[in-house]
Amino acid sequence: MNLIADTHMHTVASTHAYSTVQEMVHAAAQRKLYAVAITDHGYRMPGSPGAWYFKNMTTLPRVLEGVLVLRGEEANVVDFEGNLDLLEKDAKVLDWVVASMHHPVLKDFAPTPDEVTHAWLNVAKDPNVNVIGHCGTEEYRFDYERVLPEFGRQGKLVELNEETFTGRPGSVQNCVRIMKLCKKHGVPVIVDSDAHFSTLVGHFEHSLKLLKEIEFPEELVVNSSVERFRAYLKQYTGVFREQTSD
Ligand SMILES: [Zn+2]
Ligand SMILES: [Zn+2]
Repeated sequence: MNLIADTHMHTVASTHAYSTVQEMVHAAAQRKLYAVAITDHGYRMPGSPGAWYFKNMTTLPRVLEGVLVLRGEEANVVDFEGNLDLLEKDAKVLDWVVASMHHPVLKDFAPTPDEVTHAWLNVAKDPNVNVIGHCGTEEYRFDYERVLPEFGRQGKLVELNEETFTGRPGSVQNCVRIMKLCKKHGVPVIVDSDAHFSTLVGHFEHSLKLLKEIEFPEELVVNSSVERFRAYLKQYTGVFREQTSD
């Protein structure tokens, strides 16, 4: 399987990542990617971008060095009602929203699997969300059998995050289970790097090895061909609507 887009990455704007948008896109161009999504952390993450960062992403060129540049955010799930820190003014201009649970944001909670299940079922209904970020995290286990098919029904892509294999090794077993269930229920997924430095853009080696081991169907991996990826963007984002109206 060959992947043509990397849709989760962080720049210096997240203040714990170390490359600029230009450097991330340049790396993607060198790896011959069709598209990237720049997804800096939402406001509740310590050190997150300034108040105008996301809204002003319209300043970025649509295509840079031949790479389609999606304007994104990795929004934080801020409670177990499934609320996000995504602001409406930002949602209006963004193409690509990843919703993730992060310990620095949720540290005051010690949720039960039922509470996490409840949160994700509400996130599944959020029309702004495209991707469910690294949901295999051990401390936020949930009822996979119940929730994953719901993500599929609501058009939310389940993420397989390359960074999990190095940064969250305790979550890998959950990710294997999640991917097997996505295969079983026909839930579309997306594989991405979660790169915090340019040399990591477009690297998906561990993820691809896992998918191969479990014979995951390529048709369910949205970024496994330009056609599949564009079909998703056409159905669920305004990216091409804006281009044709120019
Ligand atoms: Zn980060
Ligand atoms: Zn994250």
